[in-house]
Amino acid sequence: MALRIVIGLALTVVAFAIAGRRLWWLYRLATSGQPAPERIQALRDHPGRGAETEIAEVLGQRKLLKWTVPGIAHVMTFWGFLVLILTIIEAYGALFDKKFAIPLIGHWAFIGFIEDLFAVAVLVGIVVFAVIRLRNDPRREGRASRFAGSHNGAAWLVLVLIFGVVATLLLYRGAQINTGDFPYPHGAFASEIVGGWLAPLGSSANMGIETAFILAQLAVILGFLVLVVYSKHLHIFLAPLNVLFSRRPNGLRGLEPMRSNGKVLDFEEADPDTDVFGIGKIEDLTWKGMLDLATCTECGRCQSQCPAWATGKPLSPKMLVLNLRDHAFAKAPYLLAGSDEAREGLPEAVRQEAERPLVGTVDAHGVIDPDVLWACTNCGACVNECPVDIEHIDHISGMRRHQVLIESEFPAEASGMLKNLENKGDPWGMGESKRTDWMDGLDFVVPVIDGTIGDDIEYLFWVGCAGALEDRAKKTTRAIAELLHTADVSFAVLGPAETCTGDPARRMGNEFVYSMLAQQNVETLNEAGVRKIIASCPHCFNTIANEYPQLGGNYEVMHHTQVLARLVADGKLTPVTPIEEKITYHDPCFLGRHNKVYTPPREIMERVPGVQAQEMHRCKERGFCCGAGGARMWMEERIGKRINAERIDEALGTDPDTISTGCPFCLVMLGDAVSAKQASGEAKESLEVVDVAQLLSRAVTAQPPAGS
Ligand code: SF4
Ligand code: SF4
Repeated sequence: MALRIVIGLALTVVAFAIAGRRLWWLYRLATSGQPAPERIQALRDHPGRGAETEIAEVLGQRKLLKWTVPGIAHVMTFWGFLVLILTIIEAYGALFDKKFAIPLIGHWAFIGFIEDLFAVAVLVGIVVFAVIRLRNDPRREGRASRFAGSHNGAAWLVLVLIFGVVATLLLYRGAQINTGDFPYPHGAFASEIVGGWLAPLGSSANMGIETAFILAQLAVILGFLVLVVYSKHLHIFLAPLNVLFSRRPNGLRGLEPMRSNGKVLDFEEADPDTDVFGIGKIEDLTWKGMLDLATCTECGRCQSQCPAWATGKPLSPKMLVLNLRDHAFAKAPYLLAGSDEAREGLPEAVRQEAERPLVGTVDAHGVIDPDVLWACTNCGACVNECPVDIEHIDHISGMRRHQVLIESEFPAEASGMLKNLENKGDPWGMGESKRTDWMDGLDFVVPVIDGTIGDDIEYLFWVGCAGALEDRAKKTTRAIAELLHTADVSFAVLGPAETCTGDPARRMGNEFVYSMLAQQNVETLNEAGVRKIIASCPHCFNTIANEYPQLGGNYEVMHHTQVLARLVADGKLTPVTPIEEKITYHDPCFLGRHNKVYTPPREIMERVPGVQAQEMHRCKERGFCCGAGGARMWMEERIGKRINAERIDEALGTDPDTISTGCPFCLVMLGDAVSAKQASGEAKESLEVVDVAQLLSRAVTAQPPAGS
């Protein structure tokens, strides 16, 4: 017994000392980042929401279960380890008392059964994980594997250690049954089987096995503890924290305002020498950003859904997080040194790491290559998929903000768009005088707000720059206006007083131009007394609904498909003319994934007689971007396959007569890809891309609306 106690406690002290030191180091590193008081405040304001999320995402493993097989395997392992905490207590108890049993419950056969059941569940779980890893081996699958770029050796080591935990557990329990030290009379079925195998060895051998494997069990568990704090398996401890402090509903929808030292940056007073402008160095991340980096499990779910990665670009959201993490860890001694003197005494490699630009080419030893940073479409697939709620888009936009505002480094072709926004209020530089041209030829008058909206008008129709100025999108705008008019919905527009919401500037990182445009719009809308807004562009919809409240603009915002679906359901619009076509619907990312509007466009299509709706493989939550978001609409796509071409290839797989969508940018991107396919003879000439509103308009009016 004395030997058991000495070895068991010695192992424990050493392991806890190593793990504790590492956790303290990680804590100091995370808190060397910027403050994030808004995350603490959000939790204080909505404590119930935090608890709900912990129950759903941590205990319920909600996001992991979106992938059925690995999700169930993870549930088995996660819950297995929770239950096996009982066996760890028993192993420690057995160090001091051979016949130890947990007080009150320690002799219940049911507890013995549950412990064994979950031990077996963990074994099944790790076998499934091993098979998944073998089937997705990046050495064979290349970048198609979600594990490409992950630390796969460490992942295998963890699986071996978990096997070791269960194997040593069953061996010492089997031996305990034979020595009479086992606390449970029956029920522990797996331990009984192992006990049956060991019984022929005799009682003294079983006594030795019992002691050896109790110590082995503790050694493996303590070894696992040390490995956890030094590996991607840190998520075991950090995921509940990261989930707790993540933005709700999640890191999608709007971007957060720029903050410096925890306060929202005021551009009139901000000083680039003392304030933090976006993320220019790793320590510009908030502690929540640092926590994100340390929590990544390297599962590659984000990578598997990223349109940039899928089309051969260098951006992988997983690799972005891992590169930032590796850099943060390598620079940590510098960040934690405390004084210039201490920094000078650091090894050369650490000082070199500290000097690396956060964003820079390979030649400049940058941590994140500009081609990686600017490839992101902000589609949100990574954030949506991440089981531990990492907020990739926030980090990407933070780095973009620094590149644009401080370094003036961004894709040159986007500078025209930014200038146009600043000078003319729209990305094309067409100016306010063109904003009502889309109304030409309508057989009714669309009121343009002059002063206040008036009590007789229910909605402001936010037309958007594309809807007002881009020829293809203008057809959608006209269809929406005609449908609203037909349904007797009272609405008005801002006309020349409307400017870009600022979304492309904000997604580019130019928070200054965004603030200017957004403040102007909020002022106009508030002065006009607007309360309800219909937006036809999901980017406008997202910005007005989710970002304008940061500036005092609070409105009830609806996408046109939501309004039209309701009008159809209420019988105010009746589709009568059949459209005998196979139609596949493309989910716009900022309508679907960011704002969870999946059903209304589909409901509209269902109500149009003759339409045979067919889904693409990647749809709804797993919808695949058109390539325009994140201001990518105004940047060249020089690397890999074009994202819109990839999407159209998928759409063509359903042999559609028409592709429908609910976003003017998707309309343009997909339309361009269809034209290219038609030119090369890969798509039929009659194939067209239309907005759902255009389809409804054709079905309701029996005649195509004027100009469509
Ligand atoms: S937002 Fe979309 S494009 Fe950007 S990294 Fe995530 S998945 Fe990739
Ligand atoms: S960021 Fe999230 S989804 Fe991506 S690899 Fe890490 S844990 Fe997995």
